[in-house]
Amino acid sequence: MVERTRLRISGTVQGVGFRPFVHRAATACGLTGFVRNDERGAWIEVEGPRDALDAFARALEEDPPALARIEGISRVAVPPLGETSFRIERSTADGERRAPISPDAATCEACLAEILDPADRRHRYAFTNCTACGPRFTIVTGVPYDRAATTMRDFAMCDDCAREYADPTDRRFHAQPLCCPACGPRLVLRGRDGKQEPGDPIARTAALLASGAIVAIKGLGGFHLAVSCTDEAAVSALRARKRREERPFALLAPDLGAAERLVHLDDVGRRCLTGTQRPILLAPRREDAPVADGVAPGMRWLGVMLPYTPLHHLLAREVGAPIVLTSGNVSDEPIAYRDDDARERLAPLCDAWLTHDRPIHVRCDDSVVRVHRGVARPLRRSRGHAPAPLPLPFAAPAPILACGGELKNTLCLAKGARAYVSHHLGDLENWGAFEAFREAIDHLARLFDVTPAVIACDLHPEYLSTKHAQALALANPDLTLVGVQHHHAHAAACLAESGCEGPALAVCYDGLGYGTDGTLWGGELLVADLVDFERVGRLAPVPMPGAAAAIREPWRMAAAHLDAAFGAALPAGLEVVRRNRDRWDAIGALLRSGIQAPPTSSVGRLFDAVAALVGLRDRVSFEGQAAIALEQLADPTEAGAYPMPVRDGALLELDGAALIRAVVADLGAGAPPARIAARLHNGLARATAEACRALRERRGVGVVALSGGVFQNQLLLDRLVTQLEADGFRVLLHAALPPNDGGLSYGQAVVAAARARARFPTGD
Ligand code: ZN
Ligand code: ZN
Ligand code: FE
Repeated sequence: MVERTRLRISGTVQGVGFRPFVHRAATACGLTGFVRNDERGAWIEVEGPRDALDAFARALEEDPPALARIEGISRVAVPPLGETSFRIERSTADGERRAPISPDAATCEACLAEILDPADRRHRYAFTNCTACGPRFTIVTGVPYDRAATTMRDFAMCDDCAREYADPTDRRFHAQPLCCPACGPRLVLRGRDGKQEPGDPIARTAALLASGAIVAIKGLGGFHLAVSCTDEAAVSALRARKRREERPFALLAPDLGAAERLVHLDDVGRRCLTGTQRPILLAPRREDAPVADGVAPGMRWLGVMLPYTPLHHLLAREVGAPIVLTSGNVSDEPIAYRDDDARERLAPLCDAWLTHDRPIHVRCDDSVVRVHRGVARPLRRSRGHAPAPLPLPFAAPAPILACGGELKNTLCLAKGARAYVSHHLGDLENWGAFEAFREAIDHLARLFDVTPAVIACDLHPEYLSTKHAQALALANPDLTLVGVQHHHAHAAACLAESGCEGPALAVCYDGLGYGTDGTLWGGELLVADLVDFERVGRLAPVPMPGAAAAIREPWRMAAAHLDAAFGAALPAGLEVVRRNRDRWDAIGALLRSGIQAPPTSSVGRLFDAVAALVGLRDRVSFEGQAAIALEQLADPTEAGAYPMPVRDGALLELDGAALIRAVVADLGAGAPPARIAARLHNGLARATAEACRALRERRGVGVVALSGGVFQNQLLLDRLVTQLEADGFRVLLHAALPPNDGGLSYGQAVVAAARARARFPTGD
């Protein structure tokens, strides 16, 4: 008895080898019918005996292609047509247009085997890919997704490649970027003078690295700078040329075994390193890790990744050891990704270029993740992840563009129940990053066919993302502008990511965010849902002497917190005072005058103050640097905790003054900085948990969301989650997005969607 079934598959199933897979599965089950792409995903009709239809449906669910993301399968019976074959139907441009573009994916096992096989026509070919792997987001220039709308459009396929492309049974059927040595892009190694070097570019690059050279390497989303990771002189030369860059450098290890000689890994970490997204994984460094001191000075963690393109596989194998692979830029600039720009900007930094003629259309930094409580959680969500959609807890009533924050900016487009969070765009005060931000709005809106009706932004009037949102709204009166308070956006992102609509308590600790009262917040306890929030607690504010200057100079925050803790009775002999003697009194005057000293409740600035007090840093070159140094320093075995009284009132207040007095007492008693750092973490965690208990009493809310850049601090997070869970709270943490400002755009989109829904209730 022959039956016919129609299956509609929704999700990311285009450009990932789904139709050849369906063709193979249907043919293997002896079924006839067709598969074609449609606007939601794929449309399949299969005809045959009942048990064969069931076997086919099981194959769809249990064994889809690696890059496919099936969100739903609907199945209905339709009348049999008596077909005799199974075919792949052409799809309409409109159908392709609306399907999500998949992120770039690491080289698959089958492609890796080919490039390592001397008998294969793609042996040692650096651009090998197939429907299960290769570049996607970084090479797509428009829609619909086909070769003409990628940076591969100028490479005409040879006959062999064209045959693979057209064969439904081939792994490369409709693989848009497919190519081979006969028809595809080529690697070249250029010397400092820009002239092409003779010989095999990979072998020559490996030799250069072995000799201590710095080589710029064009990857998937931009240029990296590579250097031997054991060569102390070469590593410090790289730091010097990157204008005394102080961030840790990431490492590329040839394989998992080599990675395990650098860092301690658990199963989640191993899966994360070897998965298709291939982020940089931050993991605890091994005592005996064979790396120069200059790679990650003072860090207990190393950032490690495995090769994700054939180029990286070939190079890493040729070198046979890990290498430093860090972003191709000078200090805070965005990484270079266009050849002309790279030649100009990286010329003073590198001794040679390993490059190629496949253009990068979208700059995309490496993603960075860390495993916490068995989950790989991003600190930066970019290459390999973006622009895969994240779910919204409910369908947005109107298409939304959310413009994000200022630092670590991402933007977010929301339509229906999907949110497309962009790749990492960087710090918008940087011109290149702001340009990328504006381009990304148009590019993503085209790719995902979103015409925003609502624009969401931060409340900070000076954020360039806010100004841009306002300009867009001004230019188009049909657009609704929605301002979302910074920490509400953090809270909403964390809630929505967990599928929770609140109300919940939200602990939002970060550097700075604009408050509804016009002051700078950053140590906030909220009761929030997705529509609105109420500020119910905070860190007691202190002035920020010199405003923005206090971010770059943590000793100024030490002065402010000491003033709040001691007033005129400041104990003598403090090192931080001695080191900054010449300006200490001027800062004191600033504090008392209140001019250029806006109050802030920032927890990030409290960490800065303590970092300066213990002598770690008086000045920083990037936001959060002092706090990271404190976390790295803290003795994890220390159980002591500084007092931090929680003062009752309309607004609960965590009192930093008692904590600062305890720090000063410990300093006077000669306590080691590692102990002081640990007691700060423990004290803050204890006081925060106490505040949460008090708020639960008052408000009857037993769910706590933790968000904000301070929660990149694993030690604090651990201490706090442990206490909250012991206290019976349900704790929500970020898992898909970073807790820092990279997650703001999604939170803004969520709030804008929730407010639109509240205004126009559908009644269901
Ligand atoms: Zn492949
Ligand atoms: Zn070819
Ligand atoms: Fe923030």
